[in-house]
Amino acid sequence: MRERGRQGEGEKGSRGAGERGREGRMSNEEAVERAPGAETKAGGRTRILYVEDDPASVALVSRVLESEGCEVTSVADGLCALEMAKREMPDMILMDINISGLDGYEVTTRLRSIEELRDVPIVAVTAATLKGDRERALIAGCNGYIPKPIDVDRLPHQIRAFLRGLKEEVKSQEEKTGYLVEYSRKLVNRLEHKIRELERAQAELQRVEKMKSDFIILASHELRTPLTSIYGHAQLLIQNPEIAGSPEEEGSPRYLLQRIAEATQRLSQVFDEIRNVSLIDADRLHLAEEPVVLKALITSVVENLKSLGPGRDLEFELKGLAELPVIRGDTRRLHQAVWNVVSNAIKYTPDGGRLRIVGELIAECGMRNLPESFGGAPFGKVRRIADIEDASLQEPMVHIWVEDSGVGIPPEERERIFNRFYVLENTIRHHSSKTAFKGGGLGLGLAVARGILEAHGGKIWAESEGYDEESLPGSTFHILLPVRRGPHSSGVGPHTFPKVAGEYTGESVGHLSGRKNAGV
Ligand code: ADP
Repeated sequence: MRERGRQGEGEKGSRGAGERGREGRMSNEEAVERAPGAETKAGGRTRILYVEDDPASVALVSRVLESEGCEVTSVADGLCALEMAKREMPDMILMDINISGLDGYEVTTRLRSIEELRDVPIVAVTAATLKGDRERALIAGCNGYIPKPIDVDRLPHQIRAFLRGLKEEVKSQEEKTGYLVEYSRKLVNRLEHKIRELERAQAELQRVEKMKSDFIILASHELRTPLTSIYGHAQLLIQNPEIAGSPEEEGSPRYLLQRIAEATQRLSQVFDEIRNVSLIDADRLHLAEEPVVLKALITSVVENLKSLGPGRDLEFELKGLAELPVIRGDTRRLHQAVWNVVSNAIKYTPDGGRLRIVGELIAECGMRNLPESFGGAPFGKVRRIADIEDASLQEPMVHIWVEDSGVGIPPEERERIFNRFYVLENTIRHHSSKTAFKGGGLGLGLAVARGILEAHGGKIWAESEGYDEESLPGSTFHILLPVRRGPHSSGVGPHTFPKVAGEYTGESVGHLSGRKNAGV
């Protein structure tokens, strides 16, 4: 948008923005009594908005009208003109017809539909001087028509006449109807053209998007393959008793091999996260359908995370999980979703904190009938069930919630944290550990968890009273999963859970260290 400075800015400086609304704009009746640049009642000058994309025309018209004491503001395209007119409420609008985007006719018609601008004189200023051009401008809603090239001597008089209320008209009713029909046909054609354009752009966007996700999925897979090999060979060496040193003895060959294995594993997790988020985005997450034993799954997550963070002093409580029914779903994917949520609970809870994972079956009642809070208050705080009024949730559900006594989440971020690549912390604190306090990752964990749970017909959302590193308000992540009892769901199904993060895709690189089962 091109916007010129205004003459008389100094005088106008004392005029508040609020005064420049409807009250600040003079009516046509007032305009009849004064020259273009005469003082308005509000003490300002006649303000003219010039919609024109030709700098030479803007310069010329501005010079002429400003020398008459008017303020001229210019914009170069239709959408900016609409914005500016609504904001500034000018006394008059000069409209070039051949502008980009919405043309001058369309902008005029749109301006006329704005109540506050209905009476503002709009005058077409255009080089289109063929038969019918004047009529077209009038039909679109212009008060009149000033042909280009502009006659600088006549311009102030022409402007004055329009400010005084001059309104040209198409005389013959028959002619008027003809132009109206022509105009509406033109609008419909333009609309059709624009819709086609949009559809083409949309298709192109989808094509590029698909190429992008195909590339990411393929690249992360390809990158993972050599990593698996490095990890495998490192493991072989680690298992070799002839390798000197111990994993704790800094600088020893065994210590170095251990670090290589860990780094490889972390890289492989990163590739998995990226791949999974791309699969979710592309709606290509294929789920296995098998019986899932949630107690076994959650216990495995907790044990695995305990093994990864031996230095953390955290207390775990698991409750109600044994009573949960066997549900149908993809064990590995669900393991990953829960793993991401629980590892966050660990990461954002300082040492000495508590984690509680509770499960309950919400039988046939449907979510609508749930009380506002249920399941007990975490660490003495009231937990509220929000945002789950959803008619689709009218089947038996498993409700699992993960409570922590950590730093909490600011209310305005509670939804955003599920966006991909969203991290709340300063990235300077980024830490590759999955359990270190505030060891933020790539910002994909919750996006992946939500994608997996939603693909199962479930939901996930967070509750927290806010973020406070001192008072530690904690967070609660709620997970809802439909039970969907299938023919095999009564029995205990296969539940070979990944031992470490990174095994979820079945392209596992194995277990990280011999520090399994160490206390968190
Ligand atoms: P990352 O992989 O970086 O951990 P996530 O998508 O898992 O990313 O989480 C996004 C953000 O949500 C984190 O950076 C963190 O700020 C916030 N968050 C997630 N879980 C918790 C929690 N239990 N307590 C406090 N903040 C959390």
